[in-house]
Amino acid sequence: MRRTQYLLGTLVTVTAVAPDRATAAQAVTAALDEIARIEALLTTYHPESEISRLNRSEGAWISVSPETLDVLAEAVRFAEMTRGAFDPTVGPLIDLWREAERRGRAPTDEERVAASKRVGYRRIQVDRHGSRARLEIGTRVDLGAIGKGYAVDRAAEAMMRAGASGGVVEAGGDLLLVGDLPDDLRDVSIRDPRPPPRVHRIGSFSGGTAVATSGGYERSFQIGDQRYGHVIDPATGLPTDSLLSATVIAPSATMADALATAILVRGQDEAQRLANEQGIEYTIFHPDGWIEDYYDGKTERTDGR
Ligand code: AMP
Ligand code: MG
Repeated sequence: MRRTQYLLGTLVTVTAVAPDRATAAQAVTAALDEIARIEALLTTYHPESEISRLNRSEGAWISVSPETLDVLAEAVRFAEMTRGAFDPTVGPLIDLWREAERRGRAPTDEERVAASKRVGYRRIQVDRHGSRARLEIGTRVDLGAIGKGYAVDRAAEAMMRAGASGGVVEAGGDLLLVGDLPDDLRDVSIRDPRPPPRVHRIGSFSGGTAVATSGGYERSFQIGDQRYGHVIDPATGLPTDSLLSATVIAPSATMADALATAILVRGQDEAQRLANEQGIEYTIFHPDGWIEDYYDGKTERTDGR
């Protein structure tokens, strides 16, 4: 049983395998409902979401749900793991570049430095016991680089709780395989970011594997005739251009999502470091035309043509 719905600003497809049709349908509905519920907590497009309230809190402690607490703690953990390449507090820099797009002129160095002062994941405090979180004044959280993965993980759990024996949850290219799956559902391909539209097969995986891709081509800022990717290097305040895309294979979609963004920021060295230290696998597309696939402990570099 498979259903697609527009959620998280993208197309979400849920596929459930279950002993009977009724259970499969329930499992699909449970997964989609869970994504909608998580999205309502985390979105910054709605002023009354928990994250929006936290972003307006002016340094006060705010009570939040277990899921919001959980994703904030995970975001801080991946920010530490990537030494700030992934940073959920980049909001002020994103706003600066959006504003620059509106006026048609790139931000000045001074503007970037000023916005950077409000960025830094150490400005987030998570109090697990008190079920509350706090931001330093001026800090804002943007879960754009991890929220989709987190929602996918929670949806897969909901699907299995509803009786599925396996399934796939996919949100705009980020996906998680769970449980027992037939071969056709285990095969994963990603988009080749170079024109013309093509796919790049990365392999056949089993339940408990997540795949997430981050690429400058997905969304961008257009300033004059220059296009800039939507991922910003928190260290410089500049959009990154070291890779066309980064795909990470990890045990959770939350991890794959956050680390794919970090690799897009830092490039190939970060991919190798995270592979060695965290056991991830990856595919990166380099602007010079080569593709690096790292699977089963082996690096393979091709032009993919
Ligand atoms: P993704 O497609 O997962 O790489 O997420 C990109 C989105 O995350 C952007 O549209 C921003 O909202 C936000 N973002 C941009 N740069 C960063 C960064 N260095 N760390 C965390 N989030 C970021
Ligand atoms: Mg990401």
